[in-house]
Amino acid sequence: MKVAFLGLGNMGLPMAVNLLKAGHQVAGFDLVQSQLDAFHAAGGTAAKSVGNAIADAEVIITMLPASRHVEGLYLGDSGLLALAKPSALLVDCSTISPKVAQQVAAIAKEKGFAMIDAPVSGGTAGAQAGTLTFMVGGEASHLEKAKPLLERMGKNIFHAGPSGSGQTVKVCNNMLLGIQMLGTSEALRLGIANGMDPKILSDIMSKSSGRNWVLELYNPCPGVMENVPSSKAYAGGFGVDLMLKDMGLAIENADDLNAKVPLGELSRQLYEMHSQAGNGQLDFSSVFHLKMD
Ligand code: NAD
Repeated sequence: MKVAFLGLGNMGLPMAVNLLKAGHQVAGFDLVQSQLDAFHAAGGTAAKSVGNAIADAEVIITMLPASRHVEGLYLGDSGLLALAKPSALLVDCSTISPKVAQQVAAIAKEKGFAMIDAPVSGGTAGAQAGTLTFMVGGEASHLEKAKPLLERMGKNIFHAGPSGSGQTVKVCNNMLLGIQMLGTSEALRLGIANGMDPKILSDIMSKSSGRNWVLELYNPCPGVMENVPSSKAYAGGFGVDLMLKDMGLAIENADDLNAKVPLGELSRQLYEMHSQAGNGQLDFSSVFHLKMD
């Protein structure tokens, strides 16, 4: 397929490279020249502009930082919707607000485009390995068309429901993950304050009713598990500031709907405190060391 890939950052670059490896023709564009150079070095066509990248594309994939970047790129007189062929399928993989995803998809539909929201879980390691989970919102027939490409970038592909549903699932999942990380850290710190060995404590809780993903696969206490960020000075992984962004999306979404998320609100404040203490670039499991005084 002829594919345009816009946004070749930490996630987009390895995702686009996986499409190249599968034999697709991929024209990429990013505002940052070094990302374009890396894509070119991997065998991709580095386009000079959005217009160049999407001119012949059958499928246009975007992987951008936040809602405002998606609105900026898709809408407006010289935006993607003004420049693309209306037969092109649009796939936004960025993590953005469900409301903005619905608004952009509705405008795309008015102009005759098929569009799905397809945010991902699995981080940069999953992007490189081609094992991401895709949570897709939009029409089933549009997902079917995108599937051959998504299957090259991910392992699990879920249809969540109509436009915006992929983003809703992503927002709910990451809010829960953020809360779980804080709760698990708190339980571990309490056990350690009692003189417990954190590994013994973790092993027992992992087989008891406190069991959860953080305890089983991503223990935040250094030395308990190998090959997780907590055992590598919290380098790599999923940054505190990215978690803060996703927590912010959850709160904004809850406010829009007048839904109550008190644990989400408190968690967002705690991640903010941790970020402001200079830890924004560390993995989010570093919140195990949150300074409360
Ligand atoms: P990133 O900042 O590394 O990459 C985003 C890229 O988009 C940048 O290279 C930027 O230059 C480019 N960009 C911005 N505006 C553009 C435009 N108008 N045209 C072309 N390129 C443009 O971010 P990332 O880590 O790759 O994350 C991308 C998205 O994926 C975010 O929404 C993030 O929340 C989500 N996400 C990230 C992870 C992760 O672990 N990094 C995991 C899951 C989901």
